Amino acid sequence: MLQGKTAIVTGSSSGIGLGIAEHFAKAHANVIMNGIEPSDQMADTVARVAALGEGEVVYSPANMMKPDDIQAMATMAQETFGGIDILVNNAGIQFVAPVEDFPTEKWDAIIAINLSSAYHTTKAAVPGMKAKGWGRIINIASAHGLVASPFKSAYVAAKHGILGLTKTVALEVAEEGITVNAICPGYVWTPLVERQIPDTAKARGMTEEQVKQEVLLKAQPTKQFVTVDQLGSLALFLCSDGAASITGTSLPVDGGWVAQ
Ligand code: NAD
Repeated sequence: MLQGKTAIVTGSSSGIGLGIAEHFAKAHANVIMNGIEPSDQMADTVARVAALGEGEVVYSPANMMKPDDIQAMATMAQETFGGIDILVNNAGIQFVAPVEDFPTEKWDAIIAINLSSAYHTTKAAVPGMKAKGWGRIINIASAHGLVASPFKSAYVAAKHGILGLTKTVALEVAEEGITVNAICPGYVWTPLVERQIPDTAKARGMTEEQVKQEVLLKAQPTKQFVTVDQLGSLALFLCSDGAASITGTSLPVDGGWVAQ
């Protein structure tokens, strides 16, 4: 389905981004994977993803906190594949603490990686998409783009912000064959979620098992974690012709969380 198209998936060395990269590779896209890990650590994963389809898969260790790194990744896409057709802004980090104790450097890093990087990548990708008259931008927001939880001030602010960016850019490029959408996952069992459990337990005075059952799964009426595969399938659908009229939306994939 995506033969001849080139996708950048930021933060695809792990978790949701890796799942989306795999779905795109299976659909025969060229994929630029990205993450904070150095290239040599990623060689096996990149080879495994490349073997899933007929496209080429490469890796960029661009740090999403650094606009110059992001520009270098976009230049690599241009030189290697002739541009970016599909952009998935997925890289993200989390930190959990009450607002009065929230470390300023964590606030700055979360806003930079989870929000500002999407501005820089979008700015770099849109001119080429306009020239081709086709493009897909998918922002991985969160249920926390639509509702809040305590102790996640920076994350919730960044995720609400990316929904604003999604809607604004969607309007700007609506007549250019480019769609811009946000996917809002509920809890997905990935390293990002696993890592926040000890701090959430501390902030809420709970055991780690209580956090899993009474905070994470309690939020989702299905009482199940969302899967990486489910998100990869939706991202792929958003790249199809059938999704050409879906733009400017936020699509919850959250087991019913925000319906409550
Ligand atoms: P993860 O920790 O498994 O993966 C995060 C990815 O981001 C990794 O590839 C990592 O290398 C990359 N990354 C981190 N800092 C980076 C930086 N400075 N530069 C480049 N890459 C960087 O996390 P995940 O759960 O797969 O999360 C992916 C996205 O999905 C995030 O935006 C997250 O907010 C969002 N999300 C996750 C969940 C969940 O429950 N896991 C729910 C809703 C939204």
